[in-house]
Parts: sequence; C-alpha cells; structure tokens
Amino acid sequence: MKAIRVHQYGGPEVMRLEEMPVPEPGAGEVLVRVRAAGVNPVDVYRRSGGSGYNPPLPFTPGTDAAGVVEAAGEKAWAAAGTKVYASGALTGTYAEMALCKASDVHPLPEGLTYSQGAAVGIPYGTAYRALFQRARVSAGEVLLVHGASGGVGTAALQLAQAAGLRVSGTAGTERGILLAQEQGAERVFNHRSDGYEKGIMDWTGGRGVDVILEMLANVNLDRDLALLAPRGRVVVIGSRGAVSIDPRQAMALDSSILGVSLRNAAAQEETAIHAALAAGFRNGTLKPVIGREMPLSQASQAHQAVMEPGAYGKIVLLP
Ligand code: NAP
Repeated sequence: MKAIRVHQYGGPEVMRLEEMPVPEPGAGEVLVRVRAAGVNPVDVYRRSGGSGYNPPLPFTPGTDAAGVVEAAGEKAWAAAGTKVYASGALTGTYAEMALCKASDVHPLPEGLTYSQGAAVGIPYGTAYRALFQRARVSAGEVLLVHGASGGVGTAALQLAQAAGLRVSGTAGTERGILLAQEQGAERVFNHRSDGYEKGIMDWTGGRGVDVILEMLANVNLDRDLALLAPRGRVVVIGSRGAVSIDPRQAMALDSSILGVSLRNAAAQEETAIHAALAAGFRNGTLKPVIGREMPLSQASQAHQAVMEPGAYGKIVLLP
C-alpha cells in the first residue's frame, strides 16, 4: 500500500509517499481502507516535532479518516465492508490502509461522504468537548467562536446552534466570513480588522459574551477577557505561543479560562462525544464543510495550506 512517511521531523518536505506492507489487524483492531484522511493542525505540529506528543520516527501522520473496513480482528465490532469514520489510528491515516483500534472507529453516518467523515474526529470531537464537557454551555447563552471559518470553528457553530445558543464568530477573510454566516452565525466579525472587539460588545448591548471558543489564544486571550459577560468562560482550544494577560479582568467578572485537549477525554467522555455527534448527523443539524480535497501525494501542500490564513472548513487527502 502507499503511505506518507516521515523519517525525520521537519518542514512539509519531509513527508514522502512510499510503498509499505499492509498491516494485519489483531484482536480488537480493524484495518480500514482509507477513502479520505483529515488534515489537522496537530498533524503539522507532530511532523515538525513540535507537539506535546511527537510520534517515534518513522511514522505515518494522521488520526482522522473515513473509509471501509477491509478486515477485522477478533472481538472487533465492525465487520469487513462496514463504512466507518476513524477518530484515531495505530498506523496513521495518510495512507491507503490504516490499522485502527475498533473502539476508534464509528459507523459513517448516513448521508455523509467519506470526505465529510474524515472531518469529524478531531474537529467535531474538540468542538463538542469544548462546548459541553469544558464550558458546560446552556441554551440561551451567547457564544463567540473566535476562529469560526476552520474545521473546529464550523463544527462549533453547528453544535452550538443545535443546542440553542446565540452564536457569533470571527474569520479573517471575506470568504471565511461568508462561510460562518452560511453556517448560521448571527454576526461574524473580522479578526484582522482593527477594533472588531467593539462590534462584538455592541452586538451584546455592552454585556459581553458568555463563552468564547478561542483558536489563537496567544494573540487574543487578554482581549477575550474584556469581551466576557460576568461568569463568562474562555475555552483555549488553540494557542501557538505565550501571551501576557491582566488577571484582574478575570477577577472582576468571576470569569474562567479553561483549557481543552481532546486527548484528555476519558473513555466515557469519548463515548458521549461520538453518541452526541451521531445524533446530530442523524437529525441533520451537523454537516461537515469540506474546503479542499487533495490527492494523498500532495500531503506537503496540504500541510502548508492548513497553516495559512484563509481557512475554509476542512482540508482532506484522498488516497
Ligand atoms: P483551521 O481549520 O486551520 O482553522 C484555523 C482557524 O483559526 C480559522 O478559523 C482562522 O481564521 C482562525 N484564526 C486565524 N487567525 C486568528 C486570529 N487572530 N484570531 C482568531 N482566530 C484566528 O484549524 P482547526 O482545525 O479549526 O484548529 C484551530 C486551532 O485549534 C488550531 O490551533 C489547532 O491546533 C487547535 N486545535 C486544538 C485541539 C485541542 O484538543 N485543544 C483540537 C483541534 C484543534 P482565518 O483563516 O479565517 O483567519
């Protein structure tokens, strides 16, 4: 089978398309024929050796995918031929085949394409965990998705609306702003324009928002604290560096800064995440947005694209 391999940490060019033996599923494992693999920023951090968890070399990147079970080991719930999406892979999803723990594959929801299935694991999982397991949002609360045009952001807009929140977002391009509007955000602000925070405060009548899902905390966290309503919460989903904040802002409002990592979800929380997502796909409130489909051989270009400004839903690789 063909697979992208990383033999040394570094830039996008360290990813090479190589021939590999097809892995065999053991007990509790399934072999998935990958039809689409999701490209996430964490794949970039791991490839460059700069993530909190760097896989031992050599490795195949990727944890998200959708495809068809090719072979199943003993005690695996899914039989050969089952359409699934994967939220984790033992051998990496940037490949024609990926070996997965059976507990990390889930039935591909009816009506979702393989590309959409490859957009579920990390983006929807993170958005769900941030909203419901960390911020514990309630219907009627006011949300700002700070970075609403990308994979996690579009998922968060959909999940929050379905739960009855008032939803706003930010994006950095006209196209991204339109996308967030199409995804149902009541108001969308441009995080690259000066003074956009005033627009957010005006929109809330000066009260501030109850919850901010923050995709770039190293840039925004201090300003976020000033955008919160009393007892508001900022959930740090993404951050690419350090930031200085004035803690008095949190003190004055009884507000909270919450971190979230999907990796920290306990087994029971993971079960809850995928059960809730399945319900949302079934009732039509959730619909992954695919911005770009690229051939597997263009994994390097996909890694460049996912780090550039101008996010638009999800980028997937097609083996
Ligand atoms: P993505 O698809 O590349 O989207 C990135 C988002 O960040 C876009 O909406 C982008 O908007 C926005 N952004 C850029 N500059 C911004 C700014 N100054 N202020 C606010 N937003 C800004 O990435 P993703 O998959 O959605 O992931 C988003 C972040 O969360 C990444 O940093 C990722 O590493 C992190 N993440 C963390 C977890 C976790 O478990 N904690 C899980 C998944 C992802 P424009 O491009 O329109 O400017």
